[in-house]
Amino acid sequence: MKYYIGVDLGGTNTKIGILDENGEILIKETIKTFSEKGMETTLNRIWGTIEKLMDQKEIGKENMCGIGIGIPGPVINEEIVAFFANFDWEVNINISELMGKISGIPTKLENDVNMIAVGESKFGAGKGSTSSITVALGTGVGGGIVVNSKLISGMNGAGGEIGHIKLVEDGKLCGCGQRGCFEAYASATGVIREAKSRLAVNKNNLLYKSLDGNLEKLEAKDVFDCAKAGDGFSMEIVNYVGNYLGMGIGNLLNVINPEVIILSGGVALAGEILLDVVKDKLKKYAMPVTLNKLEIKLGELGNDAGIKGGIVLFL
Ligand SMILES: [Zn+2]
Repeated sequence: MKYYIGVDLGGTNTKIGILDENGEILIKETIKTFSEKGMETTLNRIWGTIEKLMDQKEIGKENMCGIGIGIPGPVINEEIVAFFANFDWEVNINISELMGKISGIPTKLENDVNMIAVGESKFGAGKGSTSSITVALGTGVGGGIVVNSKLISGMNGAGGEIGHIKLVEDGKLCGCGQRGCFEAYASATGVIREAKSRLAVNKNNLLYKSLDGNLEKLEAKDVFDCAKAGDGFSMEIVNYVGNYLGMGIGNLLNVINPEVIILSGGVALAGEILLDVVKDKLKKYAMPVTLNKLEIKLGELGNDAGIKGGIVLFL
């Protein structure tokens, strides 16, 4: 039996798992990342946890065929990180080589959302497909595009950064510094921003009541929950966000024409109420031919998607 290791390196927590050759997670553990201690220390701590997990499952190093690490930033050629989204680490270091030296096991890197995308495409909601787009709707909007079973990483590792396609000329300011990005409208942050600006002028609704007027407590989930409970004010926000989601996804369909769209991340947990709006809006933004046989599904692997993506880099 061959075994692989999937590592999902996050700003706060790092998830580490050992997979068999069928992509089943045999054992996993989450550790604090403590990125401020530096790159090498962090990689050594990750390797220490891997060794411990290998011991617990009585798997020898000679049966370990690869370590796949998901990194928050664009990854070039599965080895170099162009920049880190939230770490103060030196760039242009060959992390694959460094981790290979520490562990003695071949190591490949990929952008963290791309790892989720290949995990879902191979073992989750996209299983059996050869083309899929994963849209990760969290604090931001991330994405991963698989075409002919190959991930689109691009020359500089920025392939699949769907959160920054422009939906509105000179629109809302985005975290990337530009305006009108998909992410500024369809992320959890975008939902909260839109809801707060509407609540400032309209307080006669269930959403405001459910917060007891404390707008600081507001989460995207509150908006969806109130919409499900029949609050017209919240449903208007769902329609507003769903429209931009439909526009962004419609643009992607027109370029890639995938078999499956996989929605993952916190905003996707809104479920049918948002999905129904998106499906309806897609008729307006996507060429009809791209909707023929298209499946739109929620991600199936949850927090395990990134770990499972680790093995896909070696298949
Ligand atoms: Zn942007």
